[in-house]
Amino acid sequence: MAMAYAMDLSPPTFFLSPTSSSSSSPLRRLSSLPISTLHRHSNRKLQILCQSTAGTQPQSQSSNLSDANSKLSARSGQDRLLKVPISKVRNFSIIAHIDHGKSTLADKLLQVTGTVQNRDMKEQFLDNMDLERERGITIKLQAARMRYVYEDTPYCLNLIDTPGHVDFSYEVSRSLAACEGALLVVDASQGVEAQTLANVYLALENNLEIIPVVNKIDLPGAEPEQVLREIEEVIGLDCSKAILCSAKEGIGITEILNAIVERIPPPPETADKPFRALIFDSYYDPYRGVIVYFRVIDGKVKKGDRILFMASGKDYFADEIGVLSPNQIQVDELYAGEVGYISASIRSVADARVGDTITNFSRKAESSLPGYEEATPMVFCGLFPVDADQFPDLRDALEKLQLNDAALKFEPETSSAMGFGFRCGFLGLLHMEIVQERLEREYNLNLITTAPSVVYKVHTVNGDTTMCSNPSLLPQPGLRKSVEEPYVKIELLTPKDYIGALMELAQDRRGEFKEMKYIAENRASLLYELPLAEMVGDFFDQLKSRTKGYASMEYSVIGYRESDLIKLDILINAELVEPLSTIVHRDKAYSVGRALTQKLKELIPRQMFKVPIQACIGSKVIASEALSAIRKDVLAKCYGGDISRKKKLLKKQAAGKKRMKAIGRVDVPQEAFMAVLKLEKEVL
Ligand code: GDP
Repeated sequence: MAMAYAMDLSPPTFFLSPTSSSSSSPLRRLSSLPISTLHRHSNRKLQILCQSTAGTQPQSQSSNLSDANSKLSARSGQDRLLKVPISKVRNFSIIAHIDHGKSTLADKLLQVTGTVQNRDMKEQFLDNMDLERERGITIKLQAARMRYVYEDTPYCLNLIDTPGHVDFSYEVSRSLAACEGALLVVDASQGVEAQTLANVYLALENNLEIIPVVNKIDLPGAEPEQVLREIEEVIGLDCSKAILCSAKEGIGITEILNAIVERIPPPPETADKPFRALIFDSYYDPYRGVIVYFRVIDGKVKKGDRILFMASGKDYFADEIGVLSPNQIQVDELYAGEVGYISASIRSVADARVGDTITNFSRKAESSLPGYEEATPMVFCGLFPVDADQFPDLRDALEKLQLNDAALKFEPETSSAMGFGFRCGFLGLLHMEIVQERLEREYNLNLITTAPSVVYKVHTVNGDTTMCSNPSLLPQPGLRKSVEEPYVKIELLTPKDYIGALMELAQDRRGEFKEMKYIAENRASLLYELPLAEMVGDFFDQLKSRTKGYASMEYSVIGYRESDLIKLDILINAELVEPLSTIVHRDKAYSVGRALTQKLKELIPRQMFKVPIQACIGSKVIASEALSAIRKDVLAKCYGGDISRKKKLLKKQAAGKKRMKAIGRVDVPQEAFMAVLKLEKEVL
């Protein structure tokens, strides 16, 4: 099954001013992630359809509509594989902020065009994996070919889905590059959000025709006119032909399909040129190898062709090609403008990365398609098995995941406190969480995760520059000249009541204020530049809790800047616990040290002996706490009698404890390793 997702775990989104939509725009991607991280659970979220098809549409408008729809489905659903001339092909995607109804609308489009039968939808829904359901990660179809009859002419509509999280913004840009148009879906009760803007600018950069759609007009709190005004003012799109719809109730769906046909241009006719196709997604299938999703930009590809991936330089025979409807259906040929998949016994997704160009081995294209970028991990953390015996299993599991996820990087790491493990690199926090969850759930591993850290650029005194992703490996102060850290540009969209709270948050996180403007009467946009390290952790939680969930944000990495950074070490029972070392700004070192030792004191269970917990910079202790010993009441049985008897018992106990102190090891719980992320109140 060929699907993808958008995720709404913590949807930080990047934002730009509306004028910056040209190709020179400062819009940059944070990272790229083969969405395939989740492909193995590629099922769709279809409950809404299941409900609506179960006969819960009492309104007469809806039932008329569903009659009309079912007739339409009967006509359009058939023969969807039949070829249509290229002028009758439309490639589009849906861009929306999380929860604005993208998957509901996509499902409705599939249903109305008869692409997916109601029966199948229910099955797929039941298939949903726990992981997605629990985290609210919405999984949608990756690409779907629909047949729609407009004015008695059959059209082929290809819906290419985009993931909805900033960790995946490179994928979004590639998916959009594979389309000629996009539906911009905005919730009628919420209005424009940061992520909506970010994706619209990506779409404008790719010169897409954008059709504004205001969804959820059935809601009592819907204010479609206000939202349309907002879209016009903030994004600068003409909304005179915007469509008002309710994906849930099925209102406005036919209008949307008609608009796609009428307003989105067909792909250019370039079938005679040498074959070039853009990969917009790929995933690893354990039986067939990597399955690559692509859009043919020029020329054509036939089953059995020898194909070449231009960036990786690998070549394969196309064993199987086909279209996604949304299930994979084999075809013999695909032409310029069409969207499909190739299975070619490719062993790792690293050979066929998103953004790469596929060409014909014997008739090579002169140049590859623009925009290819390799994924660079931005966030690193240590993963250690709780049970040391699980180390080989952890390595196997990571190797398997890497087949499916070209962005995941890992290398062995040892630490005296934690034993053997791996230092792993991820594109962002969501990516990190997904990988951890999958390791624990699918591979049954019990892991300790250390606090995530960003990659620092260290200039040493002898003129070298090294990248340091592990705080415990930061060169000694005497050896380093300066340290640079990654900075992000962050845009916050918030109702005006919360501006103060957000400014305070950004400033506490070493944010540099750049700009503030009102995008609507009641909503403002704040632009800050701040260190990525300050965002790793609970920034997003804080943002949501300080604004009662109303603010949204978007960020992108803007480069490295020098900062006065130092390493803070933690000693527990006089032993250096490397995984607890962090890199902090000098100004914050004392407060972080104090807060961290206090937090650890709360989190580490008391032992039979006294345990000092110290925070140090180099050899200087800057904060210290002590866990007092659990005292067993050795005098309980000693009632009456001489005092010397009691003293003797206490002395014996003290002697025993001394021995324990020497040999005792402190059990540090998992939460303690994340303590540094939870210091908000104490430090700020
Ligand atoms: P996505 O995150 O953009 O894919 O959003 P979903 O399609 O998952 O929708 C988010 C929520 O909005 C779901 O609970 C839907 O049932 C609801 N929803 C979507 N479209 C409509 C609509 O037209 N009207 C109403 N009332 N709710 C809708």
